[in-house]
Amino acid sequence: MNLYLRAIYKLNMHKTLDLKRYAEQISVMDIDTVKIKEAILKHKAKKVAIQIPEGLKMQALKISDEIEKLGVSTLIIADPCFGACDIPDHGMKQLGCDLIVHLAHSQFIKNTEIPVVYVEYRSLDNPSSILSKNVSRLSGIKNIGLVTTVQYIDYLPELKTILEKNDIKTFIGKPKLATYSGQILGCDQSAAKDVEDNVDAFLYVGTGLFHPLGIARATDKTVFCLDVEKKEIYTIDGEYQKYLVRTEMRKIKFHEAKKVGILVTTKTGQMNKNVFEIKSEIEKMGKRAYIISMNFVAPDKILGMKLDVLVNTACPRIEEDLVFPIPQINWDSVRKSL
Ligand code: SF4
Repeated sequence: MNLYLRAIYKLNMHKTLDLKRYAEQISVMDIDTVKIKEAILKHKAKKVAIQIPEGLKMQALKISDEIEKLGVSTLIIADPCFGACDIPDHGMKQLGCDLIVHLAHSQFIKNTEIPVVYVEYRSLDNPSSILSKNVSRLSGIKNIGLVTTVQYIDYLPELKTILEKNDIKTFIGKPKLATYSGQILGCDQSAAKDVEDNVDAFLYVGTGLFHPLGIARATDKTVFCLDVEKKEIYTIDGEYQKYLVRTEMRKIKFHEAKKVGILVTTKTGQMNKNVFEIKSEIEKMGKRAYIISMNFVAPDKILGMKLDVLVNTACPRIEEDLVFPIPQINWDSVRKSL
């Protein structure tokens, strides 16, 4: 697999598995066409761009057929979609679209060049029985923070009831960027931060390491994962310790570097407009800094540039998900180490 494909694969892994399972469970009729119709009427849309995460692309043509029954022409955006921030509104406007239907994430970006309707999805896998069977894995925990992604958000009250019946006081925090109480995004753990002072640990409901590692990074607390795929509960403490070691190594590489690339994306939802200030700050440290701009972030694009290290200002999770030919570190991590 070349670096470009590996980039797509890794960046989508944390959600693709979930979405593929979902795609197998749903019929196209489960897509919230009422919400889409309301948006079409509200915005008097005639040409609608449909943005579909990788895991749902097998349904793309059927979804397009279904939306066209609402009396509009559609366009399918085939570029990889990495999150709710990843809205190609500028390009779609140039193509004449007057609405983007963004499937599977909750609302994130509010100011776009053309309207965007976020059509969420919910998992049909109720995680309650997994919690009931495995709640003993939480023994010793008296207070816990409960967090998840949008697809399991409706199950939080039921999970809270099970935890409290087992004498574990449960806290569900309010997020700053995400939409629902208890909801986290790869780049927004504020629902966990909101309750971190009240809890001994967090219980994350979902799959994979991507989100639970984000919670551990943000709060430095033990994170248990209620894994809906493996149907078990485990901690990610070991993975978090490895992450901390990797971060220390990255800081050392940054401080040793003479030529620094500053990675900025032109995707509006991930764009850091302070890159020139960041460049000045880095150059004040006695280093030479080069701003490297790209839309889709892929390691191949810097091959041949003789940089010592890459400072990432785009999606903060790229730091862990993409393998660049040189060490990379998030700008926030650099600042914290100064
Ligand atoms: S910035 Fe990254 S983690 Fe945040 S929504 Fe976008 S893709 Fe997801």
